[in-house]
Amino acid sequence: MKFQRPSFLYPLFSEITLIPGIGPKTFKLLESKIGKKVIDLLFHLPHTVINRLDNLDLKHCPTNSIITKKILITKHISNFYNSKRPYKLIGHCENFEIEIVFFNYKGQYIEKNFPVNSVVIVSGKINRFNEIVKFTNPDYIYEVSQIDKIPKFEPIYPLTAGVNNKLLSKSIRHAIKLIPPDLPEWIPNKIVKENNWPSFSEALKSIHIPNTMIEVDNKSSYLQRLSFDEVFANQLGMQIYKKKYQTLNVNKNKRKSKYFKKCLESLSFNLTNSQNECIEDLYSDLCSKTQMKRILQGDVGSGKTIVALAAILNVIENSKQASLMAPTELLSIQHYNFIKNFTESLSIKVALLTSKIDKDERISILDKISNGYIDIVIGTHSLISDRVTFNNLGIAVIDEQHKFGVIQRSKVLAKGENVHLLLLTATPIPRSLSMTVYGDLDLSEIKEKPKNRKKIITKVLPLEKYEKVKMAISRALENEEKIYWVCPLLEETEKLDLVSLNNRFKILTKSFSKFNPTLAHGKMDNYEREKSIERFFNNESRILIASTVIEVGIDIPDATIIIIENAERFGLAQLHQLRGRVGRSSLQSYCILMYGKNISEVGKLRLKTMRDTDDGFFIAEKDLELRGPGEVFGTRQSGENELKLLPFIDKEKLMLAKDLAIDIVSTNNLNFEHEVLVSLFNKDEYIKLMS
Ligand code: ADP
Ligand code: MG
Repeated sequence: MKFQRPSFLYPLFSEITLIPGIGPKTFKLLESKIGKKVIDLLFHLPHTVINRLDNLDLKHCPTNSIITKKILITKHISNFYNSKRPYKLIGHCENFEIEIVFFNYKGQYIEKNFPVNSVVIVSGKINRFNEIVKFTNPDYIYEVSQIDKIPKFEPIYPLTAGVNNKLLSKSIRHAIKLIPPDLPEWIPNKIVKENNWPSFSEALKSIHIPNTMIEVDNKSSYLQRLSFDEVFANQLGMQIYKKKYQTLNVNKNKRKSKYFKKCLESLSFNLTNSQNECIEDLYSDLCSKTQMKRILQGDVGSGKTIVALAAILNVIENSKQASLMAPTELLSIQHYNFIKNFTESLSIKVALLTSKIDKDERISILDKISNGYIDIVIGTHSLISDRVTFNNLGIAVIDEQHKFGVIQRSKVLAKGENVHLLLLTATPIPRSLSMTVYGDLDLSEIKEKPKNRKKIITKVLPLEKYEKVKMAISRALENEEKIYWVCPLLEETEKLDLVSLNNRFKILTKSFSKFNPTLAHGKMDNYEREKSIERFFNNESRILIASTVIEVGIDIPDATIIIIENAERFGLAQLHQLRGRVGRSSLQSYCILMYGKNISEVGKLRLKTMRDTDDGFFIAEKDLELRGPGEVFGTRQSGENELKLLPFIDKEKLMLAKDLAIDIVSTNNLNFEHEVLVSLFNKDEYIKLMS
């Protein structure tokens, strides 16, 4: 099966600089947020469509509505003498005085085209001040005869700083023209008919250039169709990949567990039944003829590391090497220390490899990895660097796997022959969805937590109760406890969020200077951030004010309180992850979820779920129910396996896409139209990867 992207799709995979109006500067802005190819633009969907030409009377239009009105111009207020001031047009419409305000205006366009006594048509967002209605930098202004230049139904896109809606929609309209005509249909006719779906191109066109009013939601057949396409492509990709690369006849490992048993003797606890069951899954994979490709799911604190170690030690006992990759430096160090301790009674050689290891030591470690002296290498992304070569790599474990992409996964696997793959993840995912993300992987779940844990007490409070919370943490700090304070830092509202985060840091620093509050967020320099977390770890600081960077597996057992500001803005799975940062010792821990004024009813329900349960699997199911699959995935995915259009499809269709894909691949019925589909959604990338 040789995969080639059909050449007639090339225009869709050209760089967006091909589109008139996208120069180097815009390209840069778009590249990071949307993507650099034409197809990425096409898959950038509007979040709403507005009907510009169907407005209420001015009397009834609320502030901030987007409206289009004919206005008689009565006066110009020029900014000729002071270009820092806005240029204003004053006019009348439906008995209201209108002000049309242009900031940063230079030139003579307005004077020339919209003189006093002319009638103009203006479209944009309004503000109301008593009897005055104000358009500030309107989206469109034309003389009234040119009304046709204003789009009736206009898609509004999630904006990217520096690129306005007009440019974006113009570029996307151009991109639409690059869709090749006569794309084949890849969804079986019966399904298309049953659902009354349009074709792929029709769906994209109708969403980006609507000629009727459409709602951008999961009831839209256009969006359902595209969602289905995406999932179908993803499933086909996975099935093809699975069929091609599932290696049979691996050299079987022997079922040896002497090392692991010996190490267990040094532990002060017994494994839970669930841990033991998962270890059995791993042994049976390792000792079979097929390569292991398994994901181990277990709630935060459920003890995944030790389960993974059972597999690692089996491989080492079979005279091969193991690697364990984690997303951060700190986590790698934690694993390194734990594993070194755990395996102390054996003569196993463990090495740590991160970007911070100095050059001489690195060379020596690399040498020992490649000559087979080292048994287990633990590290960050450094592990997949080309310079790392193994003598005989038998298993690759990836912790917090959702922080890595398919490409990184394959790079680890390429470090040896028939390497067994074990992925660890703490974000439980509903069974019905797991196949969409992990379609090519087997799944084991650790369902119970170690028995010595106290339940974390969760409280839900409005932000106004800040003073009360402050008093509570003040007592806790005096009592030698350690506190995480988390604020949202979301991409869409990054600038504002950063301000609030820094403000919170300032305020807490003022109130608790004695405890040296320290700051860690995703926009900081990596080194600074890790230093900051380290200070918290070492007790130099006792409050860590952070964004969700702390969500990833950090184990600071003596932290007992986590406060999450604007908790309503996080996904449930994410909140659950964050909460899992505390409750890691036998001390009683607390999680305080604080919500803002604008919390929705669903938002309240979600926080209530958090308060009432600590079962990650239940929470994941609930999240799915309350927010739908797309959102549930949103916070979990890493770049390469992104499903952009997923929010619009339901569970049944997910299953249908999977069944179709399995059927097509297993019966060798993969045709041209499927290749087109898989290519369109870029899922060929990961098939090509391994060839
Ligand atoms: P996670 O699943 O979040 O990665 P870890 O593997 O880091 O969890 O384990 C969390 C802590 O629980 C570690 O300190 C580990 O030694 C401990 N632990 C693991 N299994 C058990 C058990 N069965 N009983 C008690 N403590 C355990
Ligand atoms: Mg872990």
